[in-house]
Amino acid sequence: PSDDKLPPPVKPMESGASTVRPDEINFIESMEDYGTFKFKASIAAPFLIAQGLPANVLDDPSWTHKHAEQVAKAVVEWCKSKGATMATHWFQPLGSAGVRRGQTGQVHNAMFNFGANGKLDWVFDGGVLLKGETDGSSYMNGGMRATHTAGGYTALDPSSPMFIRNDTLYIPTVFVSFYGKALDEKTPLLRAMEAVSLAGTRLLKLLGHEAKWVKPMIGLEQEFFLVPREAYYKRPDLQLAGRTVMGAFPARGQELSDHYMAPLNPVALACMREMQHEAFKMGIPLNTRHREVAPNQYECAPYFGIATTQIDENLMVMELMEEIAAKHGLVCLLHEKPFKGINGSGKHNNFSLATDAGVNLFNGPQLTKKTGKAETFPVVMSAVVQAVHNYSDLMRMAIAAPGNDFRLGAMEAPPAIISTYLGEALTKFLEEVKDNAKTPGLYDPAKTTINLGVPSIAPFTVPAEDRNRTSPFPYGGHRFEFRAVGSSQNVSMVNTVLCAAIADAFNNFSDAIEKGEAPLVVAQKSLKETWKIIFNGNGYSAEWPVEAASRGLPNTVSGVEAAHSLSAEKNVKLFEKLGVMTPEETNAREEAMHDQYSGMVEIELKVMVEMINRKCIPACKAAGLPASTVGALEKGVKDLNAKLHAMEAASTPYEKARAARTARLETMEEVRKVCDAAEMLVPEEMWPIASYQSLLFLD
Ligand code: ADP
Ligand code: MG
Repeated sequence: PSDDKLPPPVKPMESGASTVRPDEINFIESMEDYGTFKFKASIAAPFLIAQGLPANVLDDPSWTHKHAEQVAKAVVEWCKSKGATMATHWFQPLGSAGVRRGQTGQVHNAMFNFGANGKLDWVFDGGVLLKGETDGSSYMNGGMRATHTAGGYTALDPSSPMFIRNDTLYIPTVFVSFYGKALDEKTPLLRAMEAVSLAGTRLLKLLGHEAKWVKPMIGLEQEFFLVPREAYYKRPDLQLAGRTVMGAFPARGQELSDHYMAPLNPVALACMREMQHEAFKMGIPLNTRHREVAPNQYECAPYFGIATTQIDENLMVMELMEEIAAKHGLVCLLHEKPFKGINGSGKHNNFSLATDAGVNLFNGPQLTKKTGKAETFPVVMSAVVQAVHNYSDLMRMAIAAPGNDFRLGAMEAPPAIISTYLGEALTKFLEEVKDNAKTPGLYDPAKTTINLGVPSIAPFTVPAEDRNRTSPFPYGGHRFEFRAVGSSQNVSMVNTVLCAAIADAFNNFSDAIEKGEAPLVVAQKSLKETWKIIFNGNGYSAEWPVEAASRGLPNTVSGVEAAHSLSAEKNVKLFEKLGVMTPEETNAREEAMHDQYSGMVEIELKVMVEMINRKCIPACKAAGLPASTVGALEKGVKDLNAKLHAMEAASTPYEKARAARTARLETMEEVRKVCDAAEMLVPEEMWPIASYQSLLFLD
């Protein structure tokens, strides 16, 4: 939109880090601030030293047992220096795919009080730093907490650094019930990280390599849309449900493939620049920005790091993206499929495992060099293949965000069949292990040199492997990329599943090796049983589902059925034996997923009914459309209401979610056709709902 169309800027607060408009930000001066709002390393050190603590005290998580009082004092001094006066225990309630700020819990409390004499007194201490109590809140909990047993507790998570945003200190925490049950997304992840660390160090040791720990490293590519806020306000569906439930397709979509990596629209650029600026201040390396495939679609990606921190940072990034977009007259849409007919948004979860010595277990040449043994890498990779094979249902479950219903298998994201792409070189290498229980040598695939025949351009090398964008879980040289993950998701469960599944496979391997089997023989046996999960072909092709079926690989198109696999006995057992979740915690998560799904669809149904009744029908009448059109719309309303009633009548959360899915993918889609046809018959200025064109083309 041109400037005069932008809504007035949000009124800046007196102080605060993020209320300045970008044209008022001196980006060069502000660079001094970059990283200083994160309580880590060099930033924290002077404050810790002033309290008599060693500079690196936070590196050892046992500081929470020994030094909480001094750390709290250091934190107070740092907050004073940054103008922060409020603190919050920041947690991640269940419900992994919120749209619009539904993702984290935070109650802000002043860090000071006034004494009897009226004097300001900083009361923030070690106790407040470590533990909090919340009350009366009603999050999704899958039956683990009722209103009469509502107590919830938060406890500081030392794996993720504190940071300041505006006037508030954010303290990453876990969130559990009075009885210590995990009510959040983070607790199981921390436990799964522990499990993969134990299993990883155990297997490495059996292979002759000592490591103190193994941790999941992730990098999250975040896709999103930026649309004009003005148009958004004329879309109750976008506002309330995060996606459009109707809308005729514009004359132009992504036919020309002219959006991907195109120059950034200046309005969007200013917005993304400020998003990055805010992230950089908090030490979040949101390094990459570019345009994505669909019109008005963008992506930002940070440099990778330890899973918990990355997830915390991603949640903060999503929060600030929504907030900053508003200041630019835009709306940031994080939903997986805001618009029909063009690409939706994902969040690629790049994943690797690293040791305390900085060895990446998925980096063949590096692992081989560091362990001095050719067998380590193929053994590790065979275990990962087994993990994907044995728990593909859980991987599918972990990406069952309500919005992913419309994305998986629609030629824009990998299908609902879980498989892994290893590429030609690694597949050949592992084939040797499978067939002969030996490695053909060190894994160090030859890079190809490309010589363009243009003397002025130096020949360059490319990796041994091409990329496969159609696989849900391709290997990319040094990492796996879980590409099917949805954009709005809190990816804690995704990484909980990856860690747990790999931990289990590592343990299976270790058990066999401890019984005296040679590691490569263990790998061989495993590969023979699990080879079918490897698929290097085109995952978007029509042949793949057919072939997958002949291999016996499930194609779980329904996210509701995918969620239902959480309570399958083998999965409940997996989490229980690794100490990741008790059976009760696991079952509660399934129920919460169903509740969230049904809740989302209920909103969509209601908003669609309201839009038809209060917008479409009056517009059609005013435009003098024939009674048959109005009649068809009225029938649509009836059908939608019937589905709402059917959902109400369902007896379990699972049944309700199944009814919701039919309502959403069948009934709503049918009714939508009527609405979209009507839209094209009514003069533009008489249609009260913002058109796709007005939403999708900023430029
Ligand atoms: P691409 O488009 O190739 O997927 P991007 O640069 O957009 O690449 O994103 C790749 C993401 O993967 C980044 O967040 C990057 O930091 C992350 N990444 C790179 N190496 C690893 C690794 N070893 N483990 C986990 N994440 C990684
Ligand atoms: Mg990627």
